[in-house]
Amino acid sequence: MGVKVAKFGGSSVADAIQLAKVKSIVESDPQRKYVVVSAPGKRFHEDNKITDLLYLCKTHLDHNIGHEQVFQVICDRFRAIVFNLGLNLDIEKEFEEIDRNIRAGASEDYIASRGEYLTAMITAAYMGFDFVDTKGLVTFDERGRFLDEETDKRLREELKKHDKAVIPGFYGSKPSGEIKTFSRGGSDITGSLVARAVDAETYENWTDVSGFLVADPRIVNDPRPIEKISYMELRELSYMGASVLHEDAIYPARASDIPINIRNTNEPEHLGTTIIAEVENHDADKVITGIAGSKDFLVIAIYKNMMSAEVGFIRRCLTILEDYSIPVEHLPSGIDTISIVLSRKKVNGKLDEIIEEMKRRLQPDSIDVYEDMSLIATVGRGMSKRQGVSATLFGALYKAGVNIRMIDQGSSEMNIIVGVKNDDFEKAIRAIYDAFEGTPEKK
Ligand code: ADP
Ligand code: ASP
Ligand code: MG
Repeated sequence: MGVKVAKFGGSSVADAIQLAKVKSIVESDPQRKYVVVSAPGKRFHEDNKITDLLYLCKTHLDHNIGHEQVFQVICDRFRAIVFNLGLNLDIEKEFEEIDRNIRAGASEDYIASRGEYLTAMITAAYMGFDFVDTKGLVTFDERGRFLDEETDKRLREELKKHDKAVIPGFYGSKPSGEIKTFSRGGSDITGSLVARAVDAETYENWTDVSGFLVADPRIVNDPRPIEKISYMELRELSYMGASVLHEDAIYPARASDIPINIRNTNEPEHLGTTIIAEVENHDADKVITGIAGSKDFLVIAIYKNMMSAEVGFIRRCLTILEDYSIPVEHLPSGIDTISIVLSRKKVNGKLDEIIEEMKRRLQPDSIDVYEDMSLIATVGRGMSKRQGVSATLFGALYKAGVNIRMIDQGSSEMNIIVGVKNDDFEKAIRAIYDAFEGTPEKK
């Protein structure tokens, strides 16, 4: 009998009621032997995520404001969970140790990781599973770079010793023992690593939506769920901002051909979305697989006559960004133009310097900068080979009054990316959704 790894996200472990659902899901299938948990997320819209509060403790300390008040709010959330689950667990001892470490100057990563640590410990006690800490198993080098093979080896060796275990997501450690976290949402990565290490039959990712939806449900009302999607399509959508699954969570499962199944803790009967290598029998009427996007990019559009004839032009251009350690998100180009798309956050106040440097080193005819831009990707396998897709997309944006500032048809032939103003972001996504997914009359 194969093994399933079930990762439960923040909303699934937000309180005792949610944890009772988790237990019943795990117990309803004996194949679910390894459980990975996030830290408690929001219970209602205005609520706080535990991880955000832990980061807030650190911010307070950095500004010489006591962390006690925020720390008490965190402890109270966990106390309530332990009490409501009726557990006999000495959680106070854990709070004391964490508080001691915080006072002794613990790192931001250590503080942030304690949400997952405590949640895994509580969930293990509640389900009668072993608690297996990821400290010393999920490994990073001293510079904080993730060590994939070493992690796989250590997780494999350790998990062999446990028939059933609960494992905290989000963090691991460096050789010195210092705690290091993945980026936000990183428990998805831990789940994928655990799935690979136990040669799982399926990696289940339990969240608060019934699978991957064609568009973000916070923008589009009741979007269609996607039954099956390929790793490649999902990676495009995750990278572009569909935040259901951390973009780096795909690789470990994919490398071992483990299907990922996105499920809803609040609607466990729904089969959700299955992510596999190749989707056969693609539904012929469905032109697109999904739409995703993010805000806050900036585009530097460089124009120079005969640019394409100038040897090394693009290299020189990219070297400037490399000198500032700024990654390039997209790079659509024409004969005499090149548009460089950067994350505004990563440019971080260096824009004027970069533009000066470009003028000096590239001698362009003109440089235009578009700030406050959003990128929206419309993704679908074989989409670019179908007639009329671009016409439908651009027509819909035109009708909605959205001005397109940039177009990038990816070389993967799987997506069309448009750049629009931040203010038009939601409107543009709704227009694209309606054009491809709306009722026939609406189309
Ligand atoms: P978890 O805490 O379980 O890891 P996340 O908040 O990270 O959950 O991811 C689930 C959320 O992703 C959903 O509640 C939804 O608001 C958001 N989301 C964004 N894009 C999509 C999409 N295309 N399909 C489904 N959910 C989406
Ligand atoms: N708790 C972490 C976060 O909020 C990791 C996760 O939920 O996956 O980012
Ligand atoms: Mg998540």
